Formats: sequence, C-alpha cells, structure tokens
Amino acid sequence: MRRIYEDAAYRTPQSCWWRDTAPPEDQPQLEDDHRTEVAIIGGGFTGLNAALVLAKAGVETTVIDAEQPGWGASGRNGGFCCLGGSKLGSRLLAQRFGNDQRNAWHRAERAAVDHVDALLAEHQIDVDRHSDGETLLAHTPGAMRDIENGADQTAATYGVTPEIIPKEHLRQRGLGGAFHGGVTLPIGFALNPARYHAGLARVVRSKGVRLYGQTPAQAITRSGASWRITTPGGTISADKVILATNGYSAEDVPDWLRARYLPVQSSIIVTRPITRSEQVRQGWTSLQMCYDSRILLHYFRLMPDGRFLFGMRGGLRATPRAEAALSRKIRADFRTLFPEWRDVEITHEWSGLVCLMRSLTPFAGPVPDEPGLYAAMGYHGNGVAMGSYLGARLAETMMGHTPTGPFPAFLSKPPARFPLGSLRRLILAPAYAAATLFDR
Ligand SMILES: Cc1cc2nc3c(=O)[nH]c(=O)nc-3n(C[C@H](O)[C@H](O)[C@H](O)COP(=O)(O)OP(=O)(O)OC[C@H]3O[C@@H](n4cnc5c(N)ncnc54)[C@H](O)[C@@H]3O)c2cc1C
Repeated sequence: MRRIYEDAAYRTPQSCWWRDTAPPEDQPQLEDDHRTEVAIIGGGFTGLNAALVLAKAGVETTVIDAEQPGWGASGRNGGFCCLGGSKLGSRLLAQRFGNDQRNAWHRAERAAVDHVDALLAEHQIDVDRHSDGETLLAHTPGAMRDIENGADQTAATYGVTPEIIPKEHLRQRGLGGAFHGGVTLPIGFALNPARYHAGLARVVRSKGVRLYGQTPAQAITRSGASWRITTPGGTISADKVILATNGYSAEDVPDWLRARYLPVQSSIIVTRPITRSEQVRQGWTSLQMCYDSRILLHYFRLMPDGRFLFGMRGGLRATPRAEAALSRKIRADFRTLFPEWRDVEITHEWSGLVCLMRSLTPFAGPVPDEPGLYAAMGYHGNGVAMGSYLGARLAETMMGHTPTGPFPAFLSKPPARFPLGSLRRLILAPAYAAATLFDR
C-alpha cells in the first residue's frame, strides 16, 4: 500500500480515551480463498453501515480491515454526531448544483443524524450520549455579528429555530470561556464513537456479515466478471466491492484512488475528570458539544464523567518534530480558551486522518469504467453521521434500490484528482498559514 503520510500517521494511537472505554474486539485474519457477493474494504462507520444494509437485504457480505474494524477515524474521532460533511457553503452548493440539490443535501445532513439516532435506538447501543444539538461559539465580536445575521438563513436551511446566546448569557448557560456569544442548533448529539462502532460491529456480525482484521487489501483486480482481492493470508472473489477506506486510503489500492482524496490530520486531547468546583471556576459546566468560529476550528465538550475533550485540525506532517509542535499547539490553545484549567492533567492525546476531496463534497457512488466497484468517502471531518448515512445509501443504490433518504446526485459525481500527486498536502500549507492569521 502506497500512502502519502509518514509511517507514524498509520500507527495505532497509544493513548486514545475511547480505547480505554471500549477496547476494540479483535477479528480474525482472513485465511485461504473466499467467495462473497460483496466485499467491503475498510471496517469503519462507512463500511459497517453499508454491510448492515446489505446483510438485511440478504446479500452475502465480507468486510476486511487492514488493522481492525474501527481502527481508523471511526474509532478515534470527537464523537460529534452532527450536521456537515461538505466544505461548500449553502450558496456555493446552489451555484454549483442548483437549488434542488442544495436543498436535498441539507435534508441529507439532517437525515444522517437521524439515521445514527435510529440505529442506536433500534439496536439498543449505549453510547454515553449527551448534548442537545450543537453550539457554535463566536471567537470574535465580528464572528458573533455573522452568527446573528445568518440566523434566519440557518433557520430556513434546516427548518429549525436556532437559539442565539448573547455573550453575557454564556456563563449562566455553563459555557464560560473566551467567547463572544454563540448559537445552538437543535440537531445532533455527542456519543462515544468506540461504543457506537462496537455496537454496530456486534449487530453486523449477528446478521451474518464476516468481519476480518489484520487483512489489508494489497491489490484489487478484475478477474472475469468478478473482483479479486489479494490479502497476505488469502484472496476474496467478489461480485462487487465497496472502498470504504476514507483518510486511510492508499494511492494504489486500487490505482483509481491515486490523488483523488486528501488526508488531513486532526488531533484530540482529553483531560482527567474535572471536579465540579473546577468547572464552576471556569464557568463551564454544560455538557453541550461546541465548536468555535475559527477557520481552523476547535471542537470541545465536557463529557458525562467530567473529562473534557478538546480537538483541532492542523497537522500536515507526521514526523516526530511536527507531532511535537502540534501537541504544543493544541495544549496552548486549550489553556488559552480555558485558562482556569491550565494545570489540569491531560491524560490522553491522539490524532487521526480525516479526508478532503477536491470538490469539497463527499463521494458515494460507482467508480467509472469499473463495473461492480464502488466507493464512499470524503466527509471533510464530519463523518460520524454522514459516513454512516452514505455507507447505507450507497449500499441501497448498489443493489438497484431507491435510496431511503435524500441522496443528491452530485454525491455520485466521480472525484477529480488533486494537483501535486503524492505531495498534495502541501496545497494546504498556505491555506493553514492564512487561516492562522485570520483566526486571531
Ligand atoms: C481526530 C478526529 C476527530 C474527528 N471528529 C469527528 C467528529 O467529532 N464528528 C464527525 O462527524 N467526524 C469526526 N471525524 C471524522 C470521522 O471520524 C470520519 O469521517 C469517519 O469516521 C470516517 O469513517 P470511515 O468508515 O469512512 O473511515 P475510517 O473509520 O477511517 O475507516 C477506514 C478503514 O479502512 C481501513 N483500510 C484502509 N486501507 C485498507 C486496505 N487497503 N485494506 C483493508 N482496510 C483498509 C483502515 O484500517 C480503516 O480502519 C474525526 C476524525 C478524526 C481523525
């Protein structure tokens, strides 16, 4: 597998809080030669949601993961089950694809959150859920004005009433930090992603899906009317294949993927449980999940056990030096935004890869000129809900069924290649530098 980051980006995180709360269950390695109707490469939320839909329809399905299902971003994210998935704003979506598709996209965002909500309820998966919707906090007075001016548009877009929180009300709402006000949209909730993944894996297995770990697809080739997947311990022959490898994709598995996705690092720190009196001192007692209005945004939430999760984007290298710099930055930002907690011990710290697309929209559809090969990826760091949803919708359309939720046509438009090939992450360096200046 040819991947574009340094090896460290593909190592198992040593200190991920979710792994302590729901240790991943190891699946066996694939051995010998197998035949299946559908093979899914990648056992995260996308792959398992596709597998569940297929298995419920009676389709024989096999999922393989290079490490273990849930090892990728699905097992190490911030657990914000929320709107999002595209980096194109509403206006640009309408300009590029027309109003109908723009509206269908916004309905899909809501449907994605509802999809996960329904899955958890149907299968009684306990995910330590909290937060009533999601709150955006303004990092400058200007950002607060933008929030206020955009409230009507947001209401029209999502069909809900956003709640504006003036700066002077933040502390009494338990959201006391260095912010200038905010807005809550009553859509979304926070979850423990490892528990969601473990519950989903259990359900998928109970429906007869075969799950394999330590089984990297080394090559995916056509063999007559089928696809042949080569792994270290054996092969799989499948009528159809879904690529669900997202930010952990490789340039050559299959070659079609080369330069069509752009992995970007995102990092998270988690503190020891913060006592009630420490919470009160900072003025932050709310379990609401929040993010700020910076371009390189921070996302954070106090969890039910008192631990605080704080995450941000930013790393373009995975060298020891770059990782140390990122670690210093995330800790410094945390202490600036929550000064009363500057001495609180940080017990866990990890990072992972999210996936950007050149179109700034996700892809979920057939790979052109490769009958039977499909992919779903590119949620721009918002794939808890959207990855789950598009995995399910892709499986439906692959079977020739009408998708059971909004699924705008532009999502199936084949992704274009980024310039600069394997050096493409350099594209982001000037954008990150500009954002750092702009975000002050
Ligand atoms: C630090 C961080 C924080 C995030 N926070 C949030 C958040 O709060 N809310 C949100 O909505 N989204 C968040 N995201 C994004 C979200 O986690 C992802 O969009 C989502 O999990 C993608 O799921 P997936 O199944 O498509 O991919 P992944 O979960 O990344 O799974 C891909 C899998 O493919 C496997 N694989 C790769 N190549 C091969 C191969 N050749 N053969 C076999 N297997 C292979 C990998 O081992 C991996 O397990 C975050 C991501 C990160 C990294």
